[in-house]
Amino acid sequence: MARPILTIDLNAIAENWRALDSLSAAHVTTGAAVKADGYGIGAAVAARTLSAAGCGTFFVATAPEAMEVRDALGSDAEIYVLNGAIEGLPEIVAADARPVLNARTDVEMALEFAKQHETPLSCALQFETGMNRLGLSPAEAEWLAQTDVSALSVQILMSHFACADEAGHSLTREQITRFNELVPELRDRFPNAKLSLSATGGVLLGADAHFDLTRPGVGLYGADPFRDARPVIRLEAPILRVWDVKPGETSGYGATWTATRPSRLATLPLGYADGLPRSLSGRGEAKVGGRIVPLAGRVSMDLIVLDVTDVPDAAPGDMAVLLDDELTVDRMATSAGTIGYEILTSLGDRAIRRYKPSAVTDGKGDVSA
Ligand SMILES: *Cc1c(COP(=O)(O)O)cnc(C)c1O
Repeated sequence: MARPILTIDLNAIAENWRALDSLSAAHVTTGAAVKADGYGIGAAVAARTLSAAGCGTFFVATAPEAMEVRDALGSDAEIYVLNGAIEGLPEIVAADARPVLNARTDVEMALEFAKQHETPLSCALQFETGMNRLGLSPAEAEWLAQTDVSALSVQILMSHFACADEAGHSLTREQITRFNELVPELRDRFPNAKLSLSATGGVLLGADAHFDLTRPGVGLYGADPFRDARPVIRLEAPILRVWDVKPGETSGYGATWTATRPSRLATLPLGYADGLPRSLSGRGEAKVGGRIVPLAGRVSMDLIVLDVTDVPDAAPGDMAVLLDDELTVDRMATSAGTIGYEILTSLGDRAIRRYKPSAVTDGKGDVSA
């Protein structure tokens, strides 16, 4: 089948989780972010793999994502919806998940919901410490301190770093300080709640960023800032066609590539509609016959062309490798002027996904997207 194939190494995900877990003290719970379809690799499979590795706390962005992870995991896991009450409290509760309350309006909606249903609503509270994105502002935190929230069963008190992946950024220190300033009162008020500040970058910062619970995501899937991660994905595509061009001939839309010598070109069936960034035009690379070769010209919607002049025996049907242990997600991200997160979450919609090993997926290891 002339389709790109995305192979996902589930053991690597489990190992990356264990490695990140081992970076914090034994009393610190390590959760996992599986939002955005498990960073593009498949949320259900990622969640099952992580659950088998020992993870019990999962973070998604939306209510439908929570439902998918709940279906995959059964009743045991704790699932938090990061985008909060705006995702719809009925939908979140239907997934037996918990909202992260990110604003006074979220808290008010949650209190109203709990009152209507006459049961305490399990949730997390997020506080703003410097990212200025989501979370109760200092003024809202003041309001919270004066408000009866006994209808809420607060499980997690959290905030989120803006710059944890930039070594020594002063805002990181400030956010730890601000979070610590909130702690005594919050501990007093919600003695059973876990404190949580760190995603992947924070886990790597060290113990004073760990608190009670960490929430790594991208590192589990093998990308920056977890430099010691095991690579998780491999992306390959078959060569559709090979032919020779003379010096002066061009390739692709806009004729941006011109042969400077007698050249051989190879066409692959993937493009920006498959999540390959168009910004790789003129700068992407792939591996054919074990050798790294450049893209010739622009990334089209469904196709790219490689300059395989230096791999003379490249033939239709041969697999070209776009991502592997050497051509990493981060390397592609750098070439494309983006970050590994965006590469991961863009891929996989059209590619055939293969999981290895497939056991943890309940026999559904070889899944076509
Ligand atoms: C996405 C996200 C995470 C996971 O972040 P990574 O950088 O992928 O480890 C954790 N917490 C929150 C609030 C997030 O939005």
